[in-house]
Amino acid sequence: MKAIEEVTGTRFKPVWIVALLALAALIAFPLLQPDDIYRQNVLFQTFLLAVGAISWNIVSGFTGYVSLGQSAFLGIGAYTVAIISIRNGLDPFLVAPLGGLAAALVALVIGLIVMRTRGHAFVIITIALLLLFQTIGLNLGSLTGGSNGLTLPLPQWNVDYQNFPFYYSMLGIMVITHLFSMWIRRTKFGTGLIAIREDEQKAGGIGIHTTRYKVSAFIASAVFMGIAGGIYAYYLTFIDPRGMFDILVSVSIVLAVLVGGRGSIWGPIVGAFIVQPLNEATNVYAKGSQSRLVFFGGALMAVVLFMPDGIVTTITRFFRDRRRRGRGVASLVQDAISTERPKLTVLRDQEADPSSALLRVEGASKAFGGLQAVDACSFEVRQGTITGLIGPNGSGKTTMFNLITGMMTPDSGEIEFRGRRIEGLHAWDRAHLGLGRTYQITRLFRQMTVLENVIAPLSEFRWRQLGADGMHGPEKDKALELLNYVGMGKFGEERAGDLSFGQQKLVELAQVLMLEPRLVLLDEPAGGINPVLIERLAGLIQDLNQQGITFLLVEHNMPLVLKLCDPVIVVARGSRLAEGHPDEIRRNPLVLDAYLGEGSDDDELEPEAAG
Ligand code: ADP
Ligand code: MG
Repeated sequence: MKAIEEVTGTRFKPVWIVALLALAALIAFPLLQPDDIYRQNVLFQTFLLAVGAISWNIVSGFTGYVSLGQSAFLGIGAYTVAIISIRNGLDPFLVAPLGGLAAALVALVIGLIVMRTRGHAFVIITIALLLLFQTIGLNLGSLTGGSNGLTLPLPQWNVDYQNFPFYYSMLGIMVITHLFSMWIRRTKFGTGLIAIREDEQKAGGIGIHTTRYKVSAFIASAVFMGIAGGIYAYYLTFIDPRGMFDILVSVSIVLAVLVGGRGSIWGPIVGAFIVQPLNEATNVYAKGSQSRLVFFGGALMAVVLFMPDGIVTTITRFFRDRRRRGRGVASLVQDAISTERPKLTVLRDQEADPSSALLRVEGASKAFGGLQAVDACSFEVRQGTITGLIGPNGSGKTTMFNLITGMMTPDSGEIEFRGRRIEGLHAWDRAHLGLGRTYQITRLFRQMTVLENVIAPLSEFRWRQLGADGMHGPEKDKALELLNYVGMGKFGEERAGDLSFGQQKLVELAQVLMLEPRLVLLDEPAGGINPVLIERLAGLIQDLNQQGITFLLVEHNMPLVLKLCDPVIVVARGSRLAEGHPDEIRRNPLVLDAYLGEGSDDDELEPEAAG
């Protein structure tokens, strides 16, 4: 604990000192060099690019949705401010916030549509939107002036102030945008965005309302871009659709983020301060827009080839690895898993009615093409039990889990949880009802730390909660308690992807407990992990069960099933074959036949033989 605090505490200090010194220099520059208008202008453009890069990083770096339409928000802000200030004779600085508002509204509307697509489709659609706005700008002449553009009023302030108001306002917006992005990254909202980037389906399964998160991220990436667009329009005094909805601006933004480090906090701003001056230099030396394209293309290729993670990410990784070596790799070995099992205080009280069915599956079916993976399967899981679900490989157990948790929709049948029909609900709604699962092949968010992985789940959705601090306070305490409970307390700061398979399974259990679940579906928890860990896992399951959590356990390790589960349900070819006390199941000829029929070992159901 202390060590973690120390590490995170010292990690940020040098960065902040450098950043504050740089900020002081930027504030001082126009005052010290009032006549160097050229450099002031280059810096102004750099601040603008940084605002774009930081904003774009929220939706494309944190959330993983790569957009080429970021400059559309610049154009929308610019036109909003230009039109309002020209028509009403208002100072564009006063109107600039409305540019942000307009961009946010547009982001909300198109976000609801485009956030349904992913990958290539998403990139293409964002380019299309950018061109669409350009076309609208060109054709809505009465409002936008069409291709003739709009001319804003000239600044009225005293010439002694030069371009200072532009310079300092854009600098201010850049700082605010950066702080905003940092804040987002620390909140539960930010953790959710990273979770979506890493594994969107899984994110839904741990209660993250992915639609609302993605649209919110899109809006967050638009606001400051829109405000900056308004100020940019005033600075230019003339705007036209081709210049304002320019894909090259989007490309520069992408380039700045890739150079700095996509998904990192400082990457976009560092990238902007590299890309914009370089761009300026190529303009000066090569004098022509063609060479600028060559520069962008070449730089993009070089970055992707030689430093795919960007400068900031590469540097932080270097220091992280060094720190880890300093700490000793020992912390990653299995021995470090604690065998103590502290009492849990964070689980909610369970409804104690052992006779009722917590989960009821009625005639559920699911086919993949011609393959009937789940075939009119019915069963119940009673409150307070550890119910086993066994069957040969390919008998549809994992598919059944997918139907129950909402990863897939059944072709027919009913699924009832806590007396409510859930087969039509989103995965996150089911999670909020208290339904949690682990995966046969663990699906942790590999780029996140172990602690962030456990912090990420949401046991309910509230807008207010999005702003909750994810890295400190009650959420962190709860996650740490759960990590300690499963014995992984020492691993909080490790990257989840660095853990062994067994360790990942323990972390995934802690993660699902963060949901305060009533029913946990475990998909082959003991598969592929060593006997000591299996023992530990069995202890955890029994202990949690005594604290009121119900389990549905899919497992091939028969001694474990026979020891933990009652009742045991047997499925074969997607349907329920038998159900009963483990002793009955072991002797049931139908069951033996199912296993033998699939070519399994005769002794598989005998605990002595398999143990
Ligand atoms: P189990 O977990 O019992 O081993 P699964 O539910 O994973 O079985 O798979 C049941 C059957 O459905 C298998 O034949 C498998 O190949 C098939 N299957 C599972 N998921 C998919 C999918 N997404 N697409 C196509 N076929 C699938
Ligand atoms: Mg399976």
